[in-house]
Amino acid sequence: MASIAMLKEEGLEPVCFEKTDRPGGTWFYREEIIEGVASIMPTTVINHSKEMGAFSTFPPAKEYNNYMRHYEMYQYLMEYWSKYDCFRHVRVNMEVISVKRTDDYNETGRWIVTAKSLITNEISVEVYDGVMVCVGHINRPKMATFPGQEKFKGNITHTHSLKGVNEYKDQVIVIVGTGCSALDAAVDTSSVAKQVYLSTRSGAHVLQRVGPHGYPYDYVLLRRCIFFWFDILPPNVVSWLLESLYLDPQFNHNIYAVKPTHHIFSKDPVINDHITSKLLSGSVKQKPNIQRFTEDGVIFEGDSEVTKADAVIMATGYTWKFPFLEEGIIVEEEAKISLYKCVFPINLKHPTLAVIGFVLPFGPGFPIGELQCRWATQVLAGKYNLPSKREMIKDINDRYKKNIARYAPSEKMSIRVDYIKYCDDIASQFGAKPNFFKIFLTDPRLFIHLIFGPSLPYQYRLQGPHSWDGAREAIMTSKARMLWPITKRNFDECDENVLVKIFKKVLRLVFY
Ligand SMILES: Cc1cc2nc3c(=O)[nH]c(=O)nc-3n(C[C@H](O)[C@H](O)[C@H](O)COP(=O)(O)OP(=O)(O)OC[C@H]3O[C@@H](n4cnc5c(N)ncnc54)[C@H](O)[C@@H]3O)c2cc1C
Repeated sequence: MASIAMLKEEGLEPVCFEKTDRPGGTWFYREEIIEGVASIMPTTVINHSKEMGAFSTFPPAKEYNNYMRHYEMYQYLMEYWSKYDCFRHVRVNMEVISVKRTDDYNETGRWIVTAKSLITNEISVEVYDGVMVCVGHINRPKMATFPGQEKFKGNITHTHSLKGVNEYKDQVIVIVGTGCSALDAAVDTSSVAKQVYLSTRSGAHVLQRVGPHGYPYDYVLLRRCIFFWFDILPPNVVSWLLESLYLDPQFNHNIYAVKPTHHIFSKDPVINDHITSKLLSGSVKQKPNIQRFTEDGVIFEGDSEVTKADAVIMATGYTWKFPFLEEGIIVEEEAKISLYKCVFPINLKHPTLAVIGFVLPFGPGFPIGELQCRWATQVLAGKYNLPSKREMIKDINDRYKKNIARYAPSEKMSIRVDYIKYCDDIASQFGAKPNFFKIFLTDPRLFIHLIFGPSLPYQYRLQGPHSWDGAREAIMTSKARMLWPITKRNFDECDENVLVKIFKKVLRLVFY
């Protein structure tokens, strides 16, 4: 999304190939399933709040809801695109089928891009100075397999294809997995199904969108002053603190038997607002992993009896693939992907190809994608260079080693990043990381917002290439925009007196 806008900002001429009939990617809802294109449910709501996931020069209007439903998200994206006049750069219904180095690549760093029209089957072959690969990585479903699965007479599907719940009316359903899509599927289907079983190998930490005082959880949690603890304490200790002080008072993961063996920062926490009430009502029941299928159901590990089931929904994640890319450019060895800072392939002579959005952060994806686009644009424009191959390999290995020590095993180990640290790291590659020392001396109010307030994307426009005059104002007014759709009032009218706040805190300590 951001790539066209960022290239235009730098004065470069972008051409965007889009294989569907319109831009919008994940956030344009469609009924049909298209290979290699992300799929959402009619009920999909974004997991990060509007201020945290905003584009850095485009604060969402105050009227936008904090957690946008997919069509609101799409509208925000389209407004952003209009602002940057992006539509005229997009060629829709054009699938890129090959991206290869030109014969004179060693001298020029150029690429041959071959695309096919999905309407006329015509092939276009063109040469470009640079390529940004922005095809998403949550779009190729991965199915789990269990012994006896072929015997099962019911329907087995993946959440990728789930577009409604009517077909599950009065049925018994088994959902495999405990990621965001598993819990969304469990909550949605349980409103019509007779019974939903949620089968999980390891449990999950569940965060609700609503945080303390009714604020969005990420607006409260993603703050420098909180993540600063990672710099001085081991991740397990910070995780334990968050689990004990934040999660357990919401609902104790131990008594709900969903507590995983790993810590909250060792695997993505799952965002879901309704699963606890579904577990309380018994509409959704937790079960361990499937041991095997039978003709009419499944046997869960530890059970001796068959649990009858009409349908199974796999919420077992996604694999990644760049089928059009010349072989050997992105290599994966034991979950270690050869991309410098998850963006630049290390095996190329020229840094003229960048992969955007190929990260797994605990935090919103949009600001990260935008920062990656800004960095890649600066490198493509020849304003910044990459370090030597040796240094890039060291950077990849260091991240990988840290991740191995911290995270539960996963195929996407080397693309896991800490949100604030990673944003700072990418911004500092092209001089857009705020200079906190200078801000402390010159603008203490802003400094306090940056350190103790939510870590907002606008901060990366305070300085550096294409800094934005409105960045400070956007930071200082974000709370008002966040509160507006809830209160429909200016936020100083809703703020309580400090003494009343302290008194209430004391009462809470005494009474519960
Ligand atoms: C159900 C679901 C929920 C999500 N929730 C969140 C969330 O809450 N917060 C968050 O930050 N992220 C979320 N994501 C991740 C989501 O992918 C990002 O929000 C964001 O949309 C990524 O943008 P993108 O442009 O990189 O990829 P996409 O949105 O996937 O867009 C990729 C585009 O590339 C096109 N394309 C693919 N292959 C080709 C080709 N060969 N030639 C031409 N065009 C091609 C596709 O048609 C598509 O339009 C979610 C994803 C899913 C599936």
